[in-house]
Amino acid sequence: MIPGAAEYGIEVETGEEDVKDLLSVGPEDVSAADELSFARNIFIPLTTACRYTCSYCTYYDPPGQADLMSPREIREICRRGADAGCTEALFTFGDDPDDRYDEIYDQLEAWGHETIYEYLREACRIALEEGILPHSNPGDQTREQMERVADVNASMGVMLETTAEVQAHSGPRAKTPGQRLNTIRNAGELGIPFTTGILVGIGEDWRDRAESLLAIREMHERYDHIQEIIVQPVVENDRWKGGSPDLETLRRITAMARVAMPKTVSIQAPPNLASVRELLDCGIDDLGGVSPVTVDHINPEYEWPELRELEDIAEIAGVPLRERLPVYERFVADGWLSDPVKRAITADNEHGERYRSHLDGVSNVARCVD
Ligand code: SF4
Repeated sequence: MIPGAAEYGIEVETGEEDVKDLLSVGPEDVSAADELSFARNIFIPLTTACRYTCSYCTYYDPPGQADLMSPREIREICRRGADAGCTEALFTFGDDPDDRYDEIYDQLEAWGHETIYEYLREACRIALEEGILPHSNPGDQTREQMERVADVNASMGVMLETTAEVQAHSGPRAKTPGQRLNTIRNAGELGIPFTTGILVGIGEDWRDRAESLLAIREMHERYDHIQEIIVQPVVENDRWKGGSPDLETLRRITAMARVAMPKTVSIQAPPNLASVRELLDCGIDDLGGVSPVTVDHINPEYEWPELRELEDIAEIAGVPLRERLPVYERFVADGWLSDPVKRAITADNEHGERYRSHLDGVSNVARCVD
């Protein structure tokens, strides 16, 4: 049983044969993609407060030290991002800050918000006004919390990380795999294009990795809502000295992710954290979000590659590099977008034109979103 699953009524059956089959997969069983994609984004850490204390994470700050970005700061970053041609505002916070974070809640109240989700909604609206499509990854969410912000996001996400119970998540306040799967299920029920992934090297074993991928696949089979799987290695930082997975591990797990998911789901390797050049033959087809404006606030010691570097990677792979929106084309073509996001993409202005220029595969955007 997946830890925490019963609490959320999550039933995921991973058959023994499926686990065995997936564990037998290696890089020789997959082909290189015929195209690589990426999104040009800005990274907006709405707050660094988080109720948890995962031992590999440098993102969260303890109560009294956590930041909350102001609406003015958000608008300014979004404006700079739009000027630099970005199309995605990646909003993050840790998991719903708990009541230890008095100062965060006092500030939210002073700005007229009862909850951080109310504030996230305002932040997403600011992004849309400034010509950037929101993609929020605010940790675990109840259905009500997600529903509150769903229509102002082009897509959303949360990393499953692993279905295993690992020491790295332990402590007085620990997230559970069941809670993460509940968030992924909520997105499916609400019809939200969704990004998830696995974090490799936090204490899970090979069987856990296979089961994690199969759990994501099962959610996708129910709702058809997963747009990409991120295969992310844990990396050394000020809080994590447990090492990173070696290249062979990353190659094998990337190939397993490719085989586990249908072709319509992208497999992403983050180029600032993994040696992407050596994963090109393992089935990756996306390089994630890269930012010409902001740093990766989750891994601030690992700089984004320049666009030139992504072009080099695509050249080595011998395939075209294509810029995409934070929502993948098939969701636009299949009518998954909310009204505010549809309006943004079809707008008769410079922002709408910029969005549409990255929808080559959607023959008539206006018709698709009607
Ligand atoms: S990994 Fe996410 S949930 Fe864990 S401490 Fe960091 S921000 Fe919080």
